[in-house]
Amino acid sequence: MIFGATGDLANRKLYPSLYKLFEKGKLSDKFAVIGVARRPLTNEEFQENIKKSVKSSIQKENRIDEFASHFYYHSHDVTDSNSYAVLNNLANQLDSNYELQGNRIFYLAMAPEFFGTIALHLKEDGLTNVSGFKRLVIEKPFGHDLPSAQELNDQIRTAFSEDEVYRIDHYLGKEMVQNIEVIRFANAIFEPLWNNRYISNIQVTSSEVLGVEERGRYYEKSGALRDMVQNHMLQMVALLAMEPPIKLTTEEIRSEKVRVLRALRPIEGEEVKEYFVRGQYDKGTVEGTEVLGYREEQMVNPESNTETYVAGKLMIDNFRWAGVPIYIRTGKRMDSKSTKIVIQFKDIPMNLYYSPEETLNPNLLVIHIQPEEGITLHLNAKKAGQNIAATPVKLNYANRGIDGLNTPEAYEKLLFDCMRGDATNFTHWDEVALSWSFVDKISDVWENQKAENYPNYNAGTVGPREADELLEKDGFHWWPISNFDVDKC
Ligand code: NAD
Repeated sequence: MIFGATGDLANRKLYPSLYKLFEKGKLSDKFAVIGVARRPLTNEEFQENIKKSVKSSIQKENRIDEFASHFYYHSHDVTDSNSYAVLNNLANQLDSNYELQGNRIFYLAMAPEFFGTIALHLKEDGLTNVSGFKRLVIEKPFGHDLPSAQELNDQIRTAFSEDEVYRIDHYLGKEMVQNIEVIRFANAIFEPLWNNRYISNIQVTSSEVLGVEERGRYYEKSGALRDMVQNHMLQMVALLAMEPPIKLTTEEIRSEKVRVLRALRPIEGEEVKEYFVRGQYDKGTVEGTEVLGYREEQMVNPESNTETYVAGKLMIDNFRWAGVPIYIRTGKRMDSKSTKIVIQFKDIPMNLYYSPEETLNPNLLVIHIQPEEGITLHLNAKKAGQNIAATPVKLNYANRGIDGLNTPEAYEKLLFDCMRGDATNFTHWDEVALSWSFVDKISDVWENQKAENYPNYNAGTVGPREADELLEKDGFHWWPISNFDVDKC
């Protein structure tokens, strides 16, 4: 059951992803989807929408009619109690027609204020009373701060147990984010170096070219810290910093990630400005086009205090990471769209090849997450010719997908995982709670102190100057976002 079946997420991501699973034979023929939304639609109209949405993102859709025939529509206001009984009858009927053995997945692709109400109704009106499995997939944002997340979690947990809740963080479905673990734990050359003896700092960047678009109303209440840091950025940090799990099971991996978040040094009060920088974009030029500043965007307060950029220094106070800063930055309207992780290794103790005009570059391991996917290892080697000066060389692996197919979309992988009952790449409540308690201390300070310097970076740039100073005071600098791509290296 997809709640919010006529929405943007369902149309752009869920239907094309389900279709790909269907075409690859990963979805059995015994499935049915009930689309739930407010607008009145017939099943036929709904199936036409499904076909349109699949066709707009997939070139070859040979089995589209067969696929769409599995879709049914129920017009339903999720706040209206009476409608759930009708929905349950339809579900029971499809259950017997398609031999679904009472297995149900409820996907909440709707505004978050409805999540709690829907979960409560699903239980009260008997939709979760099934003989097979029941799973709840829930979109971000999971709360607005720790108290609201706790309240939402309490509502959900009245109807679903923790292992039935699949909290989406679509970064965890990305190929190269999943690859972090493999790179770390399947290579003898990295894991022994993965600590404060050999790594000087780590930089995690997620930059967007887009501005706030038509999401001004939501974004004004969220900002980059809640929208990106609390979930995606901290999840990537947890995967980078966790201890090797005893086994590759959901419980073991998640509990190692939780331990990282527990070791994260809390930043509060006066310390916030030492460790974190916030920014808001002004007008500027993006890809040759003049664009508005954040405060001129639709539904945005002309004196808005909301940050569209965050840079921060995280410290993980455990034996492995003591003293290694992990710098994160994320922002809208930056000069390029890119998600990258740069692991910078310490300088070697003595540089035999040092000459004053040529400094030796540090070794870097770059994990390219999007848009390009791959790994680059930056080494030093001998220049061809007679002298023995060192020159930087780059070893590249560009992930081009399997058998000519594009790498599966994050949603495709996450939907498949949920159907199989594998919650590893979804966030556990403990991770959500720890992330909020870290982020809340920063947002408390920012909300109570107006940023006098806003707007402080132009659209189409790398962000505010203060973000550079954050690293300079530690003797580091950001590795560039653009011109550092896997193909250009
Ligand atoms: P949307 O506004 O495009 O769609 C909302 C859907 O909810 C529509 O189908 C609408 O009919 C339905 N709806 C609204 N009120 C209803 C009611 N009272 N009863 C029944 N149905 C109702 O929203 P969206 O962009 O698809 O986002 C959905 C969720 O996914 C949100 O939680 C959002 O934060 C999250 N999300 C979206 C994206 C994205 O790319 N759009 C990405 C990440 C997360």
